[in-house]
Amino acid sequence: MAETAVRVRGLRKRYGDVEAVGGVDLDISRGEVFALLGPNGAGKSTTVEILEGHRRRTGGEVAVLGADPGRPTRSWRARIGIVLQTSGEQPPLSVRELVRHFAGYYPSPRDPDEVIEAVGLAEKAGSRLSQLSGGQRRRVDVALGIIGGPELLFLDEPTTGFDPDARRRFWKLIESLAGDGTTILLTTHYLDEAEALADRVGVIAGGRLVEVAPPWELGGRATARARVSWTAPEGPQALETDSPTQVVAELGHRFDGEVPGLTVTRPTLEDTYLSMIGADR
Ligand code: ADP
Repeated sequence: MAETAVRVRGLRKRYGDVEAVGGVDLDISRGEVFALLGPNGAGKSTTVEILEGHRRRTGGEVAVLGADPGRPTRSWRARIGIVLQTSGEQPPLSVRELVRHFAGYYPSPRDPDEVIEAVGLAEKAGSRLSQLSGGQRRRVDVALGIIGGPELLFLDEPTTGFDPDARRRFWKLIESLAGDGTTILLTTHYLDEAEALADRVGVIAGGRLVEVAPPWELGGRATARARVSWTAPEGPQALETDSPTQVVAELGHRFDGEVPGLTVTRPTLEDTYLSMIGADR
């Protein structure tokens, strides 16, 4: 039986005349990795900050780990972890000193050395923060987010500015946290990141959830027409079809073997997302 980590009904938030969030319903199960996608100004940060207990809502019901984040208690705060978008200033401490310091804020923290190991910084444990690369610094942010042993982790655009290799390594870290049963709510602008990590994605636009689905099903992707392309003697060819297997079989027959330049593609998550938010026009 899946328990609910986050339950949102009719969430609204107004800033003066601006309706930033206009009636969002959302359930996130325990152990789920959920990615919230949407263009700038869509209402992602507002929604997430309300769930984190950092912003007051105008209306609706919200339960995070069974409690109302509008009335956060110390013990509830200890059960969630937050990794914000930008890391603050760098205190003149080593990685180990900083992580140990933060462990002191929690009633039952994880072992600091284990956490440093988990985020892949064991070799840098004695290094000053100022000596770390951007990607390593982000791993410290994650270490601080998980040192309290959170049941629910909020990750705001975790890999912005990472090189591709650092992103892949960071994804492995998130996968291992998810594998340990941590519920994760991720916001990201990278569609490949959402696709790699998320069990489900929610697309928010204009303060409303447009759709919630597993990444491979979003916007009817799973049943979208396929595009078959190949290279004929007279030049590149392509057609869209509901039965690509049949088309490929016919091409195989026509070419009597290998079809030059053959590809079969369906819309990517990015294609689907851009058409959902109306940015493909
Ligand atoms: P996102 O995180 O998706 O970029 P936000 O939640 O930050 O979106 O913003 C949603 C809308 O609310 C935007 O129109 C933004 O300008 C507005 N907004 C956000 N924060 C405030 C604030 N503190 N005061 C007034 N308007 C705000």
